[in-house]
Amino acid sequence: MKTILIILMSISLQMCSQVNKPEKEKQMENITTKNNPYYSRTDRSKLTVSNEEWKKILSPDLYAIAREAATERPFTGKYNQFDELGEYYCAVCGNHLFRSDSKFSSTCGWPSFFEADKEGTAYKRDSSHGMERIEVLCKRCDSHLGHVFNDGPPPTGIRYCMNSVSLEFVGDSEKK
Ligand SMILES: [Zn+2]
Repeated sequence: MKTILIILMSISLQMCSQVNKPEKEKQMENITTKNNPYYSRTDRSKLTVSNEEWKKILSPDLYAIAREAATERPFTGKYNQFDELGEYYCAVCGNHLFRSDSKFSSTCGWPSFFEADKEGTAYKRDSSHGMERIEVLCKRCDSHLGHVFNDGPPPTGIRYCMNSVSLEFVGDSEKK
């Protein structure tokens, strides 16, 4: 009788884990990878994808910021006041951009970092809106991320002013 009970218990435990697994996979899928064949957190090779193609894949908000250099409204972004430990990736292609260690609390209204992953970011002069600024782009997919200024804190004195929409955070606790 005892043996039967143990068998029954182990079967029900297995069933539980089978039910839970697809649920977790579904959540992961909803983050960004859904319908995005270019997304990878390990492949750093350059992408050449047309805006026409990106428009079919990205959400309207992400498309407007990443591909048309729009800016999210200040103090509205999900990572503006956010201090968990982990990594920040490009929301368009999955390329690694920042580590939470370099994030600092800024009053400007957008998530700010004092250092970027040099392999992840590229720069371009931006003279739009009557200002001289330096635009920050994802090195892999050329998507707009934000701008960089020289009024940041030590040790670099640099402030990467980013759009939350362009970023995707993966916490240390989520990594295997
Ligand atoms: Zn990218």
